[in-house]
Amino acid sequence: MQIYADNAATTKMSEAAIKAMTDCAKSYWGNPSSLYTIGQKAKELLEEARADIARIINAEPREILFTSGGSEADNQALLSAAMLGKKQGKTHIISSAFEHHAILHTLKRLEQNGFSVTLLPVHENGVVDPEELKEAIDDNTCLVTVMTANNEIGTIQPIKELGAICRERGVLFHTDAVQAVGHIPLDVKAQNIDMLSASAHKFHGPKGVGFLYAKKGVRLSNLIEGGAQERGKRAGTENLPGILSMVAALKEAVAGMDKHAEHMKKVRDHLIEGLSQIPHSALNGEAERRLAGNVNFSFEGIEGESLLILLDQRGISASSGSACTSGALDPSHVLLAIGRIHDVAHGSLRLSIGEDITMEEADYIIENVREVVEYLRSFSPVWRDLMTGKKEFIL
Ligand SMILES: *Cc1c(COP(=O)(O)O)cnc(C)c1O
Repeated sequence: MQIYADNAATTKMSEAAIKAMTDCAKSYWGNPSSLYTIGQKAKELLEEARADIARIINAEPREILFTSGGSEADNQALLSAAMLGKKQGKTHIISSAFEHHAILHTLKRLEQNGFSVTLLPVHENGVVDPEELKEAIDDNTCLVTVMTANNEIGTIQPIKELGAICRERGVLFHTDAVQAVGHIPLDVKAQNIDMLSASAHKFHGPKGVGFLYAKKGVRLSNLIEGGAQERGKRAGTENLPGILSMVAALKEAVAGMDKHAEHMKKVRDHLIEGLSQIPHSALNGEAERRLAGNVNFSFEGIEGESLLILLDQRGISASSGSACTSGALDPSHVLLAIGRIHDVAHGSLRLSIGEDITMEEADYIIENVREVVEYLRSFSPVWRDLMTGKKEFIL
């Protein structure tokens, strides 16, 4: 059996997305900035795509900026908000402890440039508390950025409430919604969102393309200087095959969202139930406010890396921590943020299932994880210490 359970790292392109990409490459290859017919046709499709995206998140077309993906959208949002803040003499930014590195590393850079950063705790359940945001905001705060759903543990944040607090205090609110767009309903107006980042390859679109929503009146900086594309904010000939492919994928994802979520939740809960039977294991992040596709477990006394390799040999593609940090031996900052100690965080497994997962596949996963965990524990020195009482069990 071959099971791809790493959809939080990337997804397979849908047939509709592949078709939109190749159709564009074959038939609409003109430069949208050119005045002759094939250029103007490309321009028309580009603007239609912008309008489609805007409609899906309840924004205006001119509020959508195409980017090279989620990381770029995050960088653009944070750097623009920081620039705007500086002009008003405000240099304090609030975020959360378990953001994606595209956010955390950009914040580091801003700190080196005179900004101060407060990271809100995410608690054992993996959710930011709006009351703590209220306390952290002050007159010097220019931006709050909290992700919509976490990429490692799948917990969904109270975006609407956080946005409302920001609005009341006149502070810009950005959310990295890369794991959420195409998976849970989003409405930038109803949820009080000023800026939102998305990436196509997390919802069955192509890699290297995404978008940033920035509410009218939020002045973006010129990230790339050059021509007048994207209203001068991001110069360079537009990636039209990628953009049209992204829109095709997003339309499909949104149309199937409810049905897919219902099915995936059933399979997810079956996986959680099955994996909970393994002794000294625990689910990371709360079960309720959680993406339908995310299961993240810690198993005491093992190494996540070895678990992944052995699961791969059995046809299961999964992840420990996030794809960006695997390869490095630092434990995941997300698991540390929810209070897991290093040893426990190391023995973690993320399964991010897709909508085509079956119950039989879930059973195969449970069975194999159980066997592999048992096998790894059989020669783990840490497990021996736990069993002989030299070390105390935490889970
Ligand atoms: C994948 C991901 C990103 C980065 O998106 P890219 O398109 O790969 O640059 C940012 N934030 C989150 C939450 C993600 O899951």
